[in-house]
Amino acid sequence: MVEAGPVTEIGAHGARLTIDLGAIAANWRTLGDRGGAPCAAVVKADAYGCGVSRVGPALWVAGCRTFFVAHLSEGIAARAALPEADIYILNGLPPGAAEAFAAHALRPVLGSVEEVSEWATLSAGRLPAALHVDTGMNRLGLPVPEALGLAGDARIAAAGIDLLLSHFVSAETPEDPVNARQIAEFARVRAAYPGLRASLANSSGIFLIGAQHDLLRPGYALFGGNPTPGSANPMRPVVRLEALIAQVREVEAGATVGYNGRWTAPRPSRLATLSLGYADGFPRAISGRGQALVGGVPCPILGLVSMDLIILDVTDAPAARRGATAVLIGGGLDIDTVGRSAGTIGYEILTGLGSRYVRTYVN
Ligand SMILES: *Cc1c(COP(=O)(O)O)cnc(C)c1O
Repeated sequence: MVEAGPVTEIGAHGARLTIDLGAIAANWRTLGDRGGAPCAAVVKADAYGCGVSRVGPALWVAGCRTFFVAHLSEGIAARAALPEADIYILNGLPPGAAEAFAAHALRPVLGSVEEVSEWATLSAGRLPAALHVDTGMNRLGLPVPEALGLAGDARIAAAGIDLLLSHFVSAETPEDPVNARQIAEFARVRAAYPGLRASLANSSGIFLIGAQHDLLRPGYALFGGNPTPGSANPMRPVVRLEALIAQVREVEAGATVGYNGRWTAPRPSRLATLSLGYADGFPRAISGRGQALVGGVPCPILGLVSMDLIILDVTDAPAARRGATAVLIGGGLDIDTVGRSAGTIGYEILTGLGSRYVRTYVN
C-alpha cells in the first residue's frame, strides 16, 4: 500500500526525544522528601540536555525556588524562564563579569578570596552570593584553612554571602572514607559561619547524608539518573529516545555491516537501519555493544554507529519494518544502562543528547 502524506515529525527528523516534565517534578518532590530540607535544582548544561526553558518553569510550578547553573550565559537563559527565582552560578565570577551578573540578578558562587573581594567591591551588597568551600575536590572553592581565615571578615558581609556550599568527591560510593572527611570539614567551616545556610548534597549526597543541611542540590536524579548505583533506581524515568526505522533488509551469513565491516552475520539475518547517529549525540562508543528495543524485543546494535544511521539486528523482532520505531532510551533501557554500554556514565549521555531530534514535552 502507498501511504499518502503528511510525513510524521519522527519521519521528518529521524528520531524523537520525549521529556516527561511531570516525572521531573515528581523526582524533585521525592528528593526533597528524602533529603528532609528545601530542595534546589541544578539545571546546568541546559538542564542536563532536557531544556531549561521548559524544565525551569515546570520545577517552579512544583515549588522549586532556587536554581544552579554553571555559567553566566546559562544564568541569563535560566533567568528568561524563571523571572523570580534565586539563580546561582556555580563556576564562579569571571573577571569583569559583576555588572552582567547584577544586570540579570544572578548570584555568583564565589570560589576564591579574590572573587569575594571583587564581588564585595562591585556589587556593593546589592545582590546575594554563595561561598564555595573545597573539602576535597581541588576544583573550585576556597581551601578549608582559607575559608576559616576569612570568617568574620568584613568582605563576607559586603559580598552579601548567604549560602555556604561544598561538593562531594564520591557521594555515589557510600563506603569511600572521603565522604566522612568532607562532612567533618564542612561542619568545621559551617561552625565558623553561623547564620549562613549550608548546602552539601548533590543527587547521591541526598541518599548518603539525609537531613543535615539547609539546601539540597540535585541535578542528575531529577532527570531520572540513579543516585544509588548498585541499588534499584528510586527515580522516575524522564527521557525517551525513539528512532525511525528507515529500512529493513535480509542478508546472508557472512555479510558484513557498516563502515569497515566491523560485524559479520553468523547466520542469515534481518537488519534494520535507524535514522539516528553520533551527529545526534547518540554515542559512537556504543558501537557493537548497546541495544535498542523493537516491539519490546532487545536488538543488538551492530558494527559502527554512523553519523546519521545505526544498524540493528532485528532477526528476532517481527515488529521491525520501514516506518516503525526503535527505542534507544526508555522502556527498561535507562540512561545509566546506555551510559554503561557506551563505556561512560548516564550524565554524559543526557548532556550530549543532540538538537536534531524532534522534541516532545509531556506531563
Ligand atoms: C553538578 C553539581 C551538582 C549536581 O550534581 P548531581 O550529581 O548531578 O546531582 C551539585 N553541586 C555542584 C557544585 C555541581 O557542580
